Amino acid sequence: MTDGARPAPASSWSADAVLPDDLLERFRARAAGHDREGSFPHDDLAELRERGYLTLFVPEDDGGAGLGLEQVAALQSRLATAAPATALAVGMHLVWTGCAAVLRARGDRSLDLVLADAAAGEVFAFGVSEPGNDLVLQDSTTRAEPTGDGGWRFTGTKTATSLSPVWTRLGVFGRDDTDPAAPQLVHGFVHREQPGWSSLGDWDTIGMRATESHSTRLDGVEVPASRIVRRLPVGPSGDLLVFAVFAVFETLVAAVYRGVARRAVELAVDSAAGRTSLRTGALLSQDPVVRWRVADARMAVDGIEPQVDAVARDVDGLVDHGADWPPLLVGLKTRVTETARAIVDQAVGVVGGGSFRASSELGRLQRDVLASRFHPSSTDSAHATIAARLLGPLDEHR
Ligand SMILES: Cc1cc2nc3c(=O)[nH]c(=O)nc-3n(C[C@H](O)[C@H](O)[C@H](O)COP(=O)(O)OP(=O)(O)OC[C@H]3O[C@@H](n4cnc5c(N)ncnc54)[C@H](O)[C@@H]3O)c2cc1C
Repeated sequence: MTDGARPAPASSWSADAVLPDDLLERFRARAAGHDREGSFPHDDLAELRERGYLTLFVPEDDGGAGLGLEQVAALQSRLATAAPATALAVGMHLVWTGCAAVLRARGDRSLDLVLADAAAGEVFAFGVSEPGNDLVLQDSTTRAEPTGDGGWRFTGTKTATSLSPVWTRLGVFGRDDTDPAAPQLVHGFVHREQPGWSSLGDWDTIGMRATESHSTRLDGVEVPASRIVRRLPVGPSGDLLVFAVFAVFETLVAAVYRGVARRAVELAVDSAAGRTSLRTGALLSQDPVVRWRVADARMAVDGIEPQVDAVARDVDGLVDHGADWPPLLVGLKTRVTETARAIVDQAVGVVGGGSFRASSELGRLQRDVLASRFHPSSTDSAHATIAARLLGPLDEHR
């Protein structure tokens, strides 16, 4: 850290300094209560905000830390070792600010309003997912209608809006069918104080409870021209915004579950070192099966650690993987999250029945890690993406 609690500039940065151990211990101590109550971690967010966490991606000249995706992913993994739901929720703000930074690094300043707002203390949520929309960014069930003065009016439902109680800016998109021959997808940012939207208060889940990801109903909420950032044709798009959303989203989601996996191994080690077997009288850490399980889990963590870093580093380094980017990104998210689920499961095998108690930290990680399969890209769509890259598109006349 440099002055006060602000993060150090990118050049002299370290994850441990931005998120010191004592801070993480406080987060971890509070996480159980937020999970039990399904309450939003306002206390965590306040401490993160104070430390400049909401401006990690904002360039130094604009008052932020100017960090890259690799550094922010490292922070998100570290935060998730203490409070996965806090990390996932604040991650949605980081997705938008990270997109803006990715665009800026490529000479596109169309999301600079996001960086300026984040520097001013605004909190961004990600209003993208819609009920039954398995085309994700390629189409929308939300209606977008021109207001006649350059803005658009949005009507529809967005599912799972993390940060529901606290966002002040909501990134949304919808479909404008004004010209039926050329429908377009319109992206913009809603301000919280505007009329025309409501939070449905329906987030009652078995994991990631503290994200308070309630559905958001848009009832003709208006976004003025100044906050419309894209108009894209319906369907697959090579637009930089779409790349940026995918690159930052998939990497930061993977980073959260990397942190969950790391913590599961720590809990397995602690448990093995602290319990004895009635059968042998020895510590479980002397049991060959337990030793194998712990080693296997750690081996798997060691495998996913550099994968997140490598993809993030390529995004930061402006590496052009061309048509291989989508397979790389969906593959990263799928591999890391599925491995994290297996690691948590292996830890459960070590810790045993205590991890089935609602109050158990590993019990919470078991539930939290299940959420990973519902974030895009799903495992099935990731395989379809990679197969299409290798084998060409499916023959529609088959
Ligand atoms: C912890 C967590 C946090 C998330 N945070 C965000 C976020 O901040 N922003 C964001 O954009 N997304 C977020 N998501 C949503 C995620 O990205 C997925 O889009 C979402 O989980 C939907 O997954 P799905 O496609 O399997 O579900 P779907 O099948 O699309 O189901 C989603 C919901 O819609 C209902 N539904 C499904 N089909 C229909 C239909 N035809 N008509 C009516 N209702 C239907 C389902 O019952 C379900 O309640 C989050 C998800 C999780 C698990």
